[in-house]
Amino acid sequence: MTQALLWPWQTLFYERLRQAHAQRPAHALLLQAAAGHGGEQFVRALAMHQLCQGDAALACGQCRSCQLFLAGTHPDFLSLLPEETDAPIKVDAVRQVVGFLQQRAQFGGWRVVLIEPAERMNVQAANALLKTLEEPGERVLLLLLSERPSELLATVRSRCQVWVLPRASGAQAQDWLQTQGGGEWAGVALQMARAAPLRAQALLAADWPRRRSALWADVQALHSGRRDAIAVAATWKSWGDTLILADILAQWVEDLLCCRLGRTEDLHHPDLVSDYDSMVTSIQTERLHAFWQRLIALRRDLAGHLQLQLLLETLALDIARWSRRGGLR
Ligand SMILES: [Zn+2]
Repeated sequence: MTQALLWPWQTLFYERLRQAHAQRPAHALLLQAAAGHGGEQFVRALAMHQLCQGDAALACGQCRSCQLFLAGTHPDFLSLLPEETDAPIKVDAVRQVVGFLQQRAQFGGWRVVLIEPAERMNVQAANALLKTLEEPGERVLLLLLSERPSELLATVRSRCQVWVLPRASGAQAQDWLQTQGGGEWAGVALQMARAAPLRAQALLAADWPRRRSALWADVQALHSGRRDAIAVAATWKSWGDTLILADILAQWVEDLLCCRLGRTEDLHHPDLVSDYDSMVTSIQTERLHAFWQRLIALRRDLAGHLQLQLLLETLALDIARWSRRGGLR
């Protein structure tokens, strides 16, 4: 194996869950995990352990079963994912589960099904799963991973044993990110990732913490009328990931609104507080709210493949109009 099976903040919890499961085996576990805290890897570690032919607390990584699991070809493991990002998991996929569980286990042991993100099952798919959840058969483990279990049918939830996965604490995330080469940018990456370590790692890999300074300079320049919105939008477009850019802008809007209310204790980017203070008096609050709405709509517009340059120009123009004197440019 090339990396540990679990993230450091999951090891104690894993042991607790494993012991509980050994004493009172459940056939369906619903695992709630916050995005960016490694839930995907955790459920895989559980599934791999259930199928492992060894008897250690973690999957051994060496036996035939573990090797097949790591190669993604274990015949007694079925993983159900949406076909595309943001697409639902449909009833046909759930029928695959039913078919899979009608067959015997090839290794003569457990069969494991993983559904993630479980809240993406549409109503028909969730209904089709109910019977399986009631009578899954012998030595079957169903793992449902979900960021938002409240979006699941109550009848699905009630048939599962529910566990909430731990988030990394600030110190754990910081320490871990340093071991990954986070360096001087680790702190900023965690701010941008809303303290989710794996998201912070992805942001670091794409150089977003460093880019944040350039983006912030653009926002200040737009706000004070020193830069042209069209040119700024062209730069933003060249950076590639508009959703990340929009997320950072959203954090700044939240921060500015907090500063407006004098609540500076929960800022996403506390290192920018003096910049916020000098800007906030010249910003019209209702324009920040409107901009916030624009950012929410952006996700939908991006999915509809509306013209990216135009979307970014609109954002940049909006920022130029935050100020009280703005509106005419
Ligand atoms: Zn093994």
